[in-house]
Amino acid sequence: MIDGLYQSEPNEAMKKGMFFEYLALGNTAKGDGEFMKYIDLPKLRNGEPSVDEQRIRSQADLFKKLLDLYDITIIKTRTLLNYPSDDYSLSAEFDALGIIKREYNGNIVNTPVIIDTKLTKNIYSEFGDYSWGKPDLIDHIQAQFYPYILDKIMSSDIEDETKDLLLMYDISPDIYPQFYYMVFDYKPKMEYVIYNYVQTEMRIKEAEERIRKVYAGIDYFNQTEWPYNPTAENCNRCGYVLECPFANQTKPIINI
Ligand code: SF4
Repeated sequence: MIDGLYQSEPNEAMKKGMFFEYLALGNTAKGDGEFMKYIDLPKLRNGEPSVDEQRIRSQADLFKKLLDLYDITIIKTRTLLNYPSDDYSLSAEFDALGIIKREYNGNIVNTPVIIDTKLTKNIYSEFGDYSWGKPDLIDHIQAQFYPYILDKIMSSDIEDETKDLLLMYDISPDIYPQFYYMVFDYKPKMEYVIYNYVQTEMRIKEAEERIRKVYAGIDYFNQTEWPYNPTAENCNRCGYVLECPFANQTKPIINI
């Protein structure tokens, strides 16, 4: 729902992801208070942590070590951005904002990097919406939008605390923010992979085009008073599905 009034209950995989995020960064995208409801992963009969939990804890420790090894300085976690644009406002909320060193115009300079931590069963998986074994099949909407919004804020004259923080690190407003996925798994042989979503001109234009389409969609729905659109794909992801009189109960068709 666009106002966030209805939210889906997290499934087991999501709870594990939040648990990992909390251990790695000290918070979750839903915030500390919200997280407390989910902090207890199921224990063994003897009360000990499950094998999955032990692996997730170990991967969260590895995440912290990797920050040093890759020379990433986290300067802010759970970052919220808001950029007023036309009649709307572009918002972003991400796990962590860091600084990396990158070559820019022949110099090594501090560059902002948005870090998205991911926990998955297996980093080589090639199925589902988040098949990290085939990242080209994933919709990288966050990797497109979040740096875009941060760049807009950096190059505008609006007041913003994240912008002020970045400027303390001598960040040039000309440098386009980077976006890293740091993906960890919890299979028996635990592994990780880091993807840099390269911000090409084409991808930045794509982000602008997607934003334009979203604005057009909102305008259309405003004019048509937000009609129900009960497709299997929409209703299966909708937090209002249990109350909605128009809910579509069929399963979505899977493309293969
Ligand atoms: S029709 Fe489906 S997607 Fe729309 S509000 Fe109802 S349950 Fe949600």
